[in-house]
Amino acid sequence: MGNIIDGKKISASIKEEVKKEVEFLKEKIGRAPGLTVILVGEDPASQIYVKNKEKTAKELGINGEIIRMPRSTTQEELLKKIDELNNNPEVDGILVQLPLPSHIDEFQVTLAIDPSKDVDGFHPVNMGKLLIGKPGIIPCTPYGIIKMLEYEKIEIEGKNAVIIGRSNIVGKPVSILLLQRHATVTICHSRTKNLPDIVKGADILVAAVGKAKFVKGNWIKDGAVIIDVGINRDENSKLVGDVDFEEAEKKASHITPVPGGVGPMTIAMLMYNTLQTFKTHNSL
Ligand code: NAD
Repeated sequence: MGNIIDGKKISASIKEEVKKEVEFLKEKIGRAPGLTVILVGEDPASQIYVKNKEKTAKELGINGEIIRMPRSTTQEELLKKIDELNNNPEVDGILVQLPLPSHIDEFQVTLAIDPSKDVDGFHPVNMGKLLIGKPGIIPCTPYGIIKMLEYEKIEIEGKNAVIIGRSNIVGKPVSILLLQRHATVTICHSRTKNLPDIVKGADILVAAVGKAKFVKGNWIKDGAVIIDVGINRDENSKLVGDVDFEEAEKKASHITPVPGGVGPMTIAMLMYNTLQTFKTHNSL
């Protein structure tokens, strides 16, 4: 039976470290880090996400603020707001909650954020730095996955890492981070042939597909480490991951649950990234 990787516990320890450093630096610098989240429209899931971000920021001594803009906001108005925040020295991190209404071009919005305030790490400058291995801001979910592996002292070097999913926010960046740590990386996606056979070779499996219980227990190699990024509802509306947890757990050496795995890490890493940008802005 696999060890369950406790994302709540690991994220709590990261948040505790961030809180301590924020307290110390606040004293030293005379101001707290600032994180501004922009929410355009009233998407119910996004409302919950932004509230959680604001609440967590406050708990850690970070000035968390939500700017709510109506669904009818034009791209120009949103870009203007971002420009104001780029020029506000009290704001260290800017996050525009996705998805945006369809009349707004997400890429133009990402491009508008000052890369030094891009706490999501989605700006091409930060993505480019990640690709060539230079220090920049690392996207929260992939970074959280690496922190979990480090916390559990899971060896990455020389291991076969299989990633299912090639999105810009999870699959691609986590592949790069594992490659940098010397894993042999295979990226699978919707056109991959013989997926179960590829997964059977994985020492480390990252599932970021977005399909409930998509990865079956008999695809898993004995002793594999499984990171389940998926957040899905099953036929009974229960929150489940991309991996059939009950079956996979019997084979894995380590496995993340859903909920309580990768999810809490993402928000902790957002706070961690905000602290990093605050330090950069203060030449620390
Ligand atoms: P996405 O929809 O952008 O990407 C899904 C990927 O899965 C694609 O690259 C696609 O090629 C691949 N895919 C689809 N069908 C496939 C198939 N049959 N075989 C192999 N690959 C297939 O999704 P995303 O934004 O990367 O998110 C993935 C999941 O992770 C979602 O459930 C999302 O809710 C969740 N997520 C969780 C967190 C977190 O904090 N825990 C953060 C981001 C995303």
